[in-house]
Amino acid sequence: ATFAEFLLPDALMRGLESEGYATPTPVQARVVPMAMDGADLLVSAATGSGKTAAFLLPIMQRFIDTPVNDGGTRALILVPTRELARQIHSHFMRLGSYTRLAAEVITGGESKGHQIASLRKNPEILVATPGRLLEFLESGEADLTDLEILILDEADRMLDMGFAEDVLAIIRSCNPERQSMLFSATLHHKGLSKLTDTMLSEPEVLVI
Ligand code: AMP
Repeated sequence: ATFAEFLLPDALMRGLESEGYATPTPVQARVVPMAMDGADLLVSAATGSGKTAAFLLPIMQRFIDTPVNDGGTRALILVPTRELARQIHSHFMRLGSYTRLAAEVITGGESKGHQIASLRKNPEILVATPGRLLEFLESGEADLTDLEILILDEADRMLDMGFAEDVLAIIRSCNPERQSMLFSATLHHKGLSKLTDTMLSEPEVLVI
């Protein structure tokens, strides 16, 4: 596969070029076209496989012609750790540097005031860990009722860290009319089926 086959907007092709990505990785080759088609996906892919760009590109492609809305969050990327949230955000900033799309990070261990100010800027995309996001959902600072795309990254680690109930509560507060993609290093993990049943609707299963 080539990136050209995905028929991505020029701004994203330029982002890929400045990142030095010449060809899609296997996970990108399979996930990007299916995600752009709107499918729900259950993907087993390891760290280092290029899965971040595999879910960022379809999100950015979908929103690129309608940036800076004044509604709620349009895409949520839910991750187990602050470090991963920061990495994904910086990946987004690089790949999306030729777009006007905005993403903010919502995690524990940072000032709430600053994050509330970030939320009030109405970024299209949130990269979040479960605990702090749930607090903002309960206080009404965050709102997922218009969500278009939900990504759960490193779902197996999320379960290992004891976030199952928080994640389920977040999923239940999301717009039911959305596209969802779950990424996990392994699909054989206790508790994963509860997450997939709650989150995904007739998913395509991809084992990379
Ligand atoms: P990830 O699995 O998303 O954490 O990505 C692992 C590493 O692969 C990161 O350093 C990415 O910048 C890099 N990467 C992702 N996609 C590509 C690609 N198509 N070509 C070359 N490197 C890539």
